[in-house]
Amino acid sequence: MTDSAPYQDFQTALRDARCIVLLAGPGLRSVATDTTYRSRGETWQRLDAEELANPNVFTKDPSLVWQYYHYLRESALKAQPNAAHRVIAKLSSNVDALNRIAPNAKLHFITQNTDSLSARVLPPDAPSDAQPIEIHGNIFRVKCTQCGMTEKNTDNPICPALAGSEKFFNGVQEPVSFIHESDLPRCNQCSGLLRPDVVWFKEEVHYLDSTANLVSDCDLLIVVGTGLLVSPCSMFSEVVRRHGGKIAVFNDQETYADRLAQFRFQGPCQVTLAKALQMEEDV
Ligand SMILES: [Zn+2]
Repeated sequence: MTDSAPYQDFQTALRDARCIVLLAGPGLRSVATDTTYRSRGETWQRLDAEELANPNVFTKDPSLVWQYYHYLRESALKAQPNAAHRVIAKLSSNVDALNRIAPNAKLHFITQNTDSLSARVLPPDAPSDAQPIEIHGNIFRVKCTQCGMTEKNTDNPICPALAGSEKFFNGVQEPVSFIHESDLPRCNQCSGLLRPDVVWFKEEVHYLDSTANLVSDCDLLIVVGTGLLVSPCSMFSEVVRRHGGKIAVFNDQETYADRLAQFRFQGPCQVTLAKALQMEEDV
């Protein structure tokens, strides 16, 4: 098999596809100028970042968790989308671009990422269905812990008390300064404490029913930058294979989905994705 054979076979699968689901995870942004990507075991303020994404920790210490999310928001605002973000945005928003490589297909873009980079790179006139389906929420949305109100919030900082707290991260020796709950982000309808509208430990992902329906119709699943270790994404590849769909994996490392995938493209996805989709000149 030559080096180009997997690409040609994948391009044939694209031409035959009718329902493509592109599922992206943290590896999509790992090569962007973005410090929000954190591999397992990295720490923030010498705490496990994953431990902070937990409703119980938020209840006990909303000051600490809000400082962490303020830091993530600051980092995401400074980050620049990369070539892989641009390829996906073009395919999602431009029917002609999609038709060139997959003339019979509709594309659905599901992301585990909460950083808004995929939405930010869409053109201003993009149709509403080009917006990524953000199953883990979005750090630029908030949810009231009291009345349940949710809304977009891109204020920077989100409240005066959090200004500057982003500098206390990873390895900095200074202790986290305590911010009183009344000075943290509050609901403008009921004054309740706001939280980031993201999916935390043991919480249900957003759009579960609609994504399950998409995956059950999907005949080509394209996995980009995720190891599919977290449910329900870990089930997606199983479901697609069970009904005879094909799977392509773009990742730096081996993933859970590899053993089910017909097409595996290892390496930086900002290079491999554009090449496999024949869109190197588009980005
Ligand atoms: Zn409220």
